[in-house]
Amino acid sequence: MATQRILDFLATRRPDGPCLVVDLDVVRENYLAFERALPDSKIYYAVKANPAPEILRLLASLGSSFDTASVAEIEMALDAGASADRISYGNTIKKERDIARAYALGIRLFAVDSIEEVEKVSRAAPGSKVFCRVLTDGAGAEWPLSRKFGCVPAMAVDVLRRAKQIGLDAYGVSFHVGSQQTDLAAWDRALGDARMVFKALADEGIVLRMVNMGGGFPTRYLRDVPEAQAYGQAIFSALRKHFGNRIPETIIEPGRGMVGNAGVIKSEVVLISKKADNDNVRWVYLDIGKFGGLAETMDEAIRYPLVTRHDGSETAPCVLAGPTCDSADVLYEKTPYPLPVSLTIGDEILIEGTGAYTTTYASVAFNGFEPLRAYVI
Ligand SMILES: *Cc1c(COP(=O)(O)O)cnc(C)c1O
Repeated sequence: MATQRILDFLATRRPDGPCLVVDLDVVRENYLAFERALPDSKIYYAVKANPAPEILRLLASLGSSFDTASVAEIEMALDAGASADRISYGNTIKKERDIARAYALGIRLFAVDSIEEVEKVSRAAPGSKVFCRVLTDGAGAEWPLSRKFGCVPAMAVDVLRRAKQIGLDAYGVSFHVGSQQTDLAAWDRALGDARMVFKALADEGIVLRMVNMGGGFPTRYLRDVPEAQAYGQAIFSALRKHFGNRIPETIIEPGRGMVGNAGVIKSEVVLISKKADNDNVRWVYLDIGKFGGLAETMDEAIRYPLVTRHDGSETAPCVLAGPTCDSADVLYEKTPYPLPVSLTIGDEILIEGTGAYTTTYASVAFNGFEPLRAYVI
């Protein structure tokens, strides 16, 4: 996953300190693979996964649309060259004045999951398209999104009915099956729920037109994951099963699957030590941890592949930790990480699959460590 371009960059530039290097060629391949896998769906890149201007500009030039969560992300997508009609304000939790700012910037597509939010949108962005997010259980996802977003399908019917009553365009339904979702059947269950909402509203004469199938497409960490093509086929059969010959417009919002495997973090071993002479687990401290961008190691949810110059030699289990003075800054302890016995202080470690959800999760200056530096090549 560290491409030759990334390795060459690191070898010639020798950046000091931890940094992320993203290879745009990989982002381009991912975009084209999504396009091939789901040729009838519009792609809205989830900007939060990695909002580097170079990535946004590349995707805008390839024809991507953008899923944003704030006015700042909307402005980033506009700056990258996307017109307002290619941007959705996909956060279901928005201040009314931010909705108004988005509307002033030309945004006309909004996510909601409650009557209260629909009323904000009708006041601040009159006449806009809205889609209602339904809850999913996140089963099968390595980074589930729990119950924070969405409402039950029966409530989505009420929300969209209200939207129509107060002059909005009741456009469709959305869901997110949970991030790093490797169960292809997750989309089938969610599309079944979406279909129920379509049907209930059609019976009242309200015709929805769009299903936003969210993100969740995985990237490869330590285990192989199905190819985009397999997701495409599973999703297409689920659409056929639930919607028959009347498949609505569809949107996908890949974040992790678009950029995760395009990035590698270079880090350095700061210390290797033990807590007692007879300990059989070594502690390996890196110059990057939970506060430096590896927040998704929370609960040891995401396990990144690590590459060292000693790979292939004998390994032993290690606790892996970051450099800050917070005891929460431990990456892998419940399930120790096997690392080469010959690993030494000062060695470089490449953390693969780190193109998504790293730079933006880095803290500003905890313990004086600067935010994760990124190079997009
Ligand atoms: C975060 C998010 C995504 C991207 O999810 P991935 O699992 O990274 O693909 C897509 N849609 C919405 C609404 C999101 O919040």
